[in-house]
Amino acid sequence: MSKPVEVGEVFNTILVLDFGSQYSHLIIRRLREFNVYAEMLPCTQKISELSWKPQGVILSGGPYSVYLDGSPHVDMAVFDLGVPILGICYGMQELAWINGRGVGEGDKKEFGHAQVHVEKGRENDPLFAGIDDFQVWMSHGDKLSDLPTGFHTVATSGNSPYAAIAHDEKPIWGIQFHPEVTHTARGKEILKNFAVNICKSSQNWTMKNFIETEIERIRTLVGPTGEVIGAVSGGVDSTVAAKLMTEAIGDRFHAILVDNGVMRLNECATVKKTLTAGLGINLQVIDAADLFLGKLKGVTDPEKKRKIIGNTFIEIFEEVAEGIKPKDGGEIEFLLQGTLYPDVIESISFKGPSQTIKTHHNVGGLLDNMKLKLIEPLRELFKDEVRQLGELMGIPHDLVWRHPFPGPGIAIRILGEVTAEQVEIARNADHIFIEEIKKAGLYKEISQAFAALLPVRSVGVMGDQRTYEQVIALRAIETTDFMTADWYIFEAAFLKTVARRIVNEVKGVARVVYDITSKPPATVEWE
Ligand code: GLN
Repeated sequence: MSKPVEVGEVFNTILVLDFGSQYSHLIIRRLREFNVYAEMLPCTQKISELSWKPQGVILSGGPYSVYLDGSPHVDMAVFDLGVPILGICYGMQELAWINGRGVGEGDKKEFGHAQVHVEKGRENDPLFAGIDDFQVWMSHGDKLSDLPTGFHTVATSGNSPYAAIAHDEKPIWGIQFHPEVTHTARGKEILKNFAVNICKSSQNWTMKNFIETEIERIRTLVGPTGEVIGAVSGGVDSTVAAKLMTEAIGDRFHAILVDNGVMRLNECATVKKTLTAGLGINLQVIDAADLFLGKLKGVTDPEKKRKIIGNTFIEIFEEVAEGIKPKDGGEIEFLLQGTLYPDVIESISFKGPSQTIKTHHNVGGLLDNMKLKLIEPLRELFKDEVRQLGELMGIPHDLVWRHPFPGPGIAIRILGEVTAEQVEIARNADHIFIEEIKKAGLYKEISQAFAALLPVRSVGVMGDQRTYEQVIALRAIETTDFMTADWYIFEAAFLKTVARRIVNEVKGVARVVYDITSKPPATVEWE
């Protein structure tokens, strides 16, 4: 089997060496916004072990102090690459440390906005082309006490006489502020000056170009006869990954959709139709609803529910996969996984000298038991890039923009025991809520919305009859990263309509409430 190319070998790549800053991934985001491909690796990366040559290197910020023992330092071979280098915050302090050691603790910390101006006579510095006086975001306690050997000052701020420095001869810059955060008004232009004008990176990172490269990469990796299996859920990631596999190797890719009995209303049928008739994916649907519901009988503990669903899924998946016999009598060799770049970043970001780096994947069990190799066609992409890719490959708009849906499905949105009757109630209520959200044109504005079924009964009155039925809690949140989230503010009239419809149309519900808790302290899901 020939070794597949890495994306970094195909696209001009800016290498971001991560020293552990909370902003490092934003550097990558910003560069990709103007179609320059960028990849992050930990600051401990040995340059000789790279299979591709970067077009330029950015040293990120970080929580450490360069002058302390045990702080991370860059592989000096980076300076032999002969490519432009930009140090940001810790990265700049690292450049100064290497070139004269003039870094120490500042008398005050500088955190927040600052005004920076480019020095007289330095207006032609290519890093600041078209920019002279601008607001930046600072976040540091250490500072340069001297100009490093061979460098000159390019820009200053009230508190930082060395807000930006450049090497006298080599294409090396250091900036004390963070151009990657949006609080730095002209930050994106500065990064663009570096990547496009200075490093001469081509702006060819588009999903259209990615499709071709990726299909080639999959074909090389899988070889002419290899076969791949993968689970699909109807979510955007697994659908896009499955579509890419289908484009690359056709029916040698086997998609499996397991109906666990806790999917949303009509979801299984809709996904089946879209993936097979619509997208031509070789899909098997396994109806295991009864098996799952049987195992969930009597279980009320959320963690137990999650475990049961996860383990049952693995059991079924293995069984189905073993039944798939490739035409040439070979074996299934690969397991498809829709890993995205944020997961990769999470696993490779530099977390300090003492911490071991967490290995990423949540399919460990499957890989070991079945002796499968992992194939992850989306591992270089952010979510919005996956969506762009989905639209380009003709995946229906509704699916591309579908809200995230948890693996254990509505089982964790039914508090208490999960039975077929409870699933029916939760499903129908959820369906009405989502339908109304879509009708009101709010679906895209909201990051996630659902109905949870609470295991309490409440008294009501309907048509002069006393009722004693359950409660539906509606949840809708807005978030960019799902780490923190705020509840969505609906118009009162909207909530009124939804509540009225749910109580009237869903048998078994007497009351509807709206969840007005943020994350933290609450989580998005109820269990
Ligand atoms: N720890 C260093 C300081 O306090 C660098 C901070 C940073 O990179 N944001 O100055």
